[in-house]
Amino acid sequence: MAKKVTIDSSKCIGCGACTGICASVFTISPATGLAEVAAEPTDADTEAVENAAASCPGGAIEVK
Ligand code: SF4
Repeated sequence: MAKKVTIDSSKCIGCGACTGICASVFTISPATGLAEVAAEPTDADTEAVENAAASCPGGAIEVK
């Protein structure tokens, strides 16, 4: 089953690591400069989403 991703914007520093790892799911909002979920992950995104969460310096990405 596809994972559910949430981003805690209070922990995001806008580094862009998540978008670099999984651009189909994460994007940087031009308005805030912080990451947001552009599209819910599909099954094919699971590994990349988990890698992005592990790489996030702020620990802002939660994958369930
Ligand atoms: S990797 Fe984490 S801190 Fe960096 S932009 Fe993504 S959510 Fe924000």
